[in-house]
Amino acid sequence: MQSNINNIGGFGAMPRRKTRQLRIGAVSVGSDSPVTVQSMTNTDTADVLATAMQVAELARAGSEFVRITVNNEAAARAVPHIRDRLLALNMDVPLVGDFHYNGHKLLTDNPACAEALAKLRINPGNVGAGSKRDPQFAAIVDIACRYDKPVRIGVNWGSLDQSVLARVMDENARLAEPRDAGAVMREALVVSALESAAKAEEYGLGGDRIILSAKVSSVQDLISVYRELARRCDYPLHLGLTEAGMGSKGIVASTAALSVLLQEGIGDTIRISLTPQPDGKRTEEVVVAQEILQTMGLRAFTPMVTACPGCGRTTSTFFQELAASIQAHVREQMPVWREQFDGVENMTLAVMGCVVNGPGESKHANIGISLPGTGESPAAPVYIDGAKALTLRGDNIAAEFRAIVDDYVNSRYPRKAGERP
Ligand code: SF4
Repeated sequence: MQSNINNIGGFGAMPRRKTRQLRIGAVSVGSDSPVTVQSMTNTDTADVLATAMQVAELARAGSEFVRITVNNEAAARAVPHIRDRLLALNMDVPLVGDFHYNGHKLLTDNPACAEALAKLRINPGNVGAGSKRDPQFAAIVDIACRYDKPVRIGVNWGSLDQSVLARVMDENARLAEPRDAGAVMREALVVSALESAAKAEEYGLGGDRIILSAKVSSVQDLISVYRELARRCDYPLHLGLTEAGMGSKGIVASTAALSVLLQEGIGDTIRISLTPQPDGKRTEEVVVAQEILQTMGLRAFTPMVTACPGCGRTTSTFFQELAASIQAHVREQMPVWREQFDGVENMTLAVMGCVVNGPGESKHANIGISLPGTGESPAAPVYIDGAKALTLRGDNIAAEFRAIVDDYVNSRYPRKAGERP
């Protein structure tokens, strides 16, 4: 899957932070590897079929790893069967097991679960309380070492290790100028992640088998916490705004937080924690993650469609419908195109509403169409690679434009080795 990745570099983004590099299944993470996209299922993991189907759907949408919760014995027993079903579908997507409270026991009792997972995620705040915490944490690390699995130490402010928080608060109280409560919480998150990583290394896990995250739900806190983590360690970092929310709020908050960090070269994998609409698709979080990386110029996944917002010069909603249908068309075709052609993910398309910006924007795209605005003659000039190529008219413009895009892909992008026209 990763062979299709095109890391096209940044338009002024700061160089990527230097980190250790690790492998999660066949996917490389950290250092100069491309920033990867992950997602998480919301099925009952014990339901093998439903979970395998959702993992497959997320992977087809472009999720490069998929996390599944492993919350009880039935879920742990299901994990190898989920992996096998995916392999039967020819999908070798790395599965990440999310463990809380009883992870040490589930992994010890179900070695096939540990073996089937590509990575373990543990939350130091939920690994066990009091005197149980260290031995239970050590037991998970021991299993990770035995099965050679990387571990994400994922701190979350909703389940922050209370003993670390209490200690950081005590230290803060002794300062000549104590910091405010927010700064103390952020410091406790960073300390919890770093101390847990140090402890995992002490228990035998290689430093190149650790990835860290420290998620909060406030944009400014997230930026601050990750800047500090980036300054104080060289482990790869998984970014995500936890509990981002639903719809535009979740998308905007995640984009605001992650864009600042990615622009500073911080972040090696990302997840967008969107709450799906009741009838919404789980894959939306994958699309948003890809679009953040692509619109920032960090990676390319799918041809992008530029469209104007429309205004009083537009005569109808036709250009909006055309923009939506062409975006849906390229997203639908992309799984096939990706297998057949090199570089098609870099294609750019423009769908514009009138002559004011239409021809100019169209010339900047690989293929652009400028639809007629109010008072303009009912003709839609099409530009290919900067030059006017033809003019579409009549009732069949949408289908004809899609055919032009398909022809362009077939004729302009080199076929992959072994692919026939
Ligand atoms: S390109 Fe034309 S229709 Fe689109 S926003 Fe600009 S002026 Fe309005």
